[in-house]
Amino acid sequence: MIPQPHLIARVRPEFARGERDMCCHFFPLPAEGVVPEVLRAYCGFDIHPGEAESLEEPAGMPCLGCLMAAVLPS
Ligand SMILES: [Zn+2]
Repeated sequence: MIPQPHLIARVRPEFARGERDMCCHFFPLPAEGVVPEVLRAYCGFDIHPGEAESLEEPAGMPCLGCLMAAVLPS
Protein backbone atom coordinates (compact mmCIF):
# COMPACT_ATOMS: atom_id res chain seq x y z
CA MET A 1 0.00 0.00 0.00
CA ILE A 2 1.02 3.62 0.12
CA PRO A 3 3.79 4.16 2.68
CA GLN A 4 2.78 7.76 3.23
CA PRO A 5 -0.19 9.02 5.21
CA HIS A 6 -2.94 9.83 2.82
CA LEU A 7 -6.51 10.89 2.75
CA ILE A 8 -9.31 9.58 0.64
CA ALA A 9 -11.83 12.24 -0.23
CA ARG A 10 -14.58 12.95 -2.64
CA VAL A 11 -16.08 16.21 -3.79
CA ARG A 12 -19.51 16.77 -2.28
CA PRO A 13 -22.25 16.10 -4.84
CA GLU A 14 -23.35 19.75 -4.79
CA PHE A 15 -19.86 20.82 -5.85
CA ALA A 16 -19.28 18.12 -8.42
CA ARG A 17 -19.12 19.48 -11.93
CA GLY A 18 -18.67 16.25 -13.77
CA GLU A 19 -18.11 12.56 -13.56
CA ARG A 20 -14.46 13.02 -12.64
CA ASP A 21 -15.46 14.99 -9.57
CA MET A 22 -17.55 12.12 -8.32
CA CYS A 23 -14.56 9.81 -8.11
CA CYS A 24 -12.77 9.44 -4.82
CA HIS A 25 -9.29 10.83 -4.99
CA PHE A 26 -6.23 9.96 -2.95
CA PHE A 27 -4.38 12.83 -1.33
CA PRO A 28 -0.89 12.50 0.07
CA LEU A 29 -0.64 14.13 3.48
CA PRO A 30 2.52 15.59 4.95
CA ALA A 31 4.04 13.16 7.44
CA GLU A 32 4.20 15.95 9.98
CA GLY A 33 3.28 19.59 10.09
CA VAL A 34 0.23 21.38 8.92
CA VAL A 35 -2.13 20.00 6.33
CA PRO A 36 -2.20 22.49 3.44
CA GLU A 37 -5.42 24.37 2.91
CA VAL A 38 -5.85 23.10 -0.62
CA LEU A 39 -5.06 19.43 -1.01
CA ARG A 40 -3.68 18.16 -4.28
CA ALA A 41 -4.50 14.61 -5.22
CA TYR A 42 -2.01 12.24 -6.82
CA CYS A 43 -3.70 12.87 -10.15
CA GLY A 44 -3.31 16.64 -9.80
CA PHE A 45 -6.90 17.31 -8.80
CA ASP A 46 -7.22 20.13 -6.28
CA ILE A 47 -9.78 20.00 -3.53
CA HIS A 48 -10.76 23.07 -1.53
CA PRO A 49 -11.82 23.13 2.10
CA GLY A 50 -15.54 22.65 2.54
CA GLU A 51 -16.01 21.16 -0.90
CA ALA A 52 -15.03 17.64 -0.02
CA GLU A 53 -16.04 14.88 2.29
CA SER A 54 -13.33 12.59 3.54
CA LEU A 55 -13.96 8.88 3.39
CA GLU A 56 -12.88 6.14 5.78
CA GLU A 57 -12.29 3.85 2.86
CA PRO A 58 -12.69 4.05 -0.91
CA ALA A 59 -16.32 4.35 -1.88
CA GLY A 60 -17.85 4.52 -5.28
CA MET A 61 -15.53 4.89 -8.21
CA PRO A 62 -11.86 5.47 -7.44
CA CYS A 63 -10.00 8.00 -9.55
CA LEU A 64 -7.92 6.09 -12.07
CA GLY A 65 -5.27 8.79 -12.21
CA CYS A 66 -4.81 8.64 -8.46
CA LEU A 67 -4.68 4.86 -8.44
CA MET A 68 -2.04 4.75 -11.13
CA ALA A 69 0.04 7.49 -9.55
CA ALA A 70 -0.16 5.90 -6.10
CA VAL A 71 0.67 2.41 -7.25
CA LEU A 72 3.31 3.14 -9.83
CA PRO A 73 6.65 4.56 -8.67
CA SER A 74 7.21 7.97 -10.19
ZN1 LIG B 1 -7.62 11.67 -8.60
